[in-house]
Amino acid sequence: MSEPILRVEHLNRYFGALHATDDVSFEVPKGQIRAVIGPNGAGKSTLMDLICNRTTPNSGKVYFKGEDITGLAPYKIVRKGMCKCFQITQIFSNLTVFENVQIARINMGKKVFDFRAKKDNFLEQEVNEFLSYVGIQDKANSISGYLSYGDQRRLDIAIALSMEPTLLILDEPAAGVAREEAYKLMDLVKKLAKDRDMTILFIEHDMDIIFNYSDVISVMSNGSLIASDTPANIKNNDFVQKAYLGSNK
Ligand code: ADP
Ligand code: MG
Repeated sequence: MSEPILRVEHLNRYFGALHATDDVSFEVPKGQIRAVIGPNGAGKSTLMDLICNRTTPNSGKVYFKGEDITGLAPYKIVRKGMCKCFQITQIFSNLTVFENVQIARINMGKKVFDFRAKKDNFLEQEVNEFLSYVGIQDKANSISGYLSYGDQRRLDIAIALSMEPTLLILDEPAAGVAREEAYKLMDLVKKLAKDRDMTILFIEHDMDIIFNYSDVISVMSNGSLIASDTPANIKNNDFVQKAYLGSNK
């Protein structure tokens, strides 16, 4: 069997006496769309932050493409191909949509400074390709802060794409947008996984989205990972029904 793209081993994170991540181990194979679900406060966002080292674990290991990345600076993890979107927004609201992706792309470069970056149209073609891929090319010159919430999420995805991730982590992609837009966003995410051979790890609350878009669902409760299985099995899992689904239906 090939090496999973992501492997997490015995991750623990305490906030004071609170055990926010309790001995979590799991792996995600390349190309999979994996949902992480669980009640509010279950530890989902903390787990994602531990994976991209925005929060340091008290113990445990994170392996990305077989390499131990525990404790590696977050920007180095991004350069290795892991990106996280939403909740922590990375958009500069006073810059245009085009400029936001252009800056991300420039920062992604390995050089400290590129003199060509002084030209306004630097990287024009590739930036427009990213914008067009997520469906906001017509808004390239709009000030980002004035975009609709759904379009800001698309911009956030375009910024992530410009960093050429192989693993994209999304924290509640459908939160705060109308149902129709949420489905369109998820269609986009699914297309990414397929077209670009990308692995997706996403936190979500909306059960229709979870069951429609994920290959495997991982369930968290009180900091622990209590199950990882196919949508069909998760739907019928007694423990999961009681711990999460039952209380939300
Ligand atoms: P979820 O995303 O599943 O709603 P979180 O990972 O955000 O859960 O939070 C898990 C638990 O850890 C919650 O009880 C939350 O209050 C706590 N927590 C999260 N971040 C911090 C922090 N920076 N400081 C203290 N407690 C935190
Ligand atoms: Mg959360």
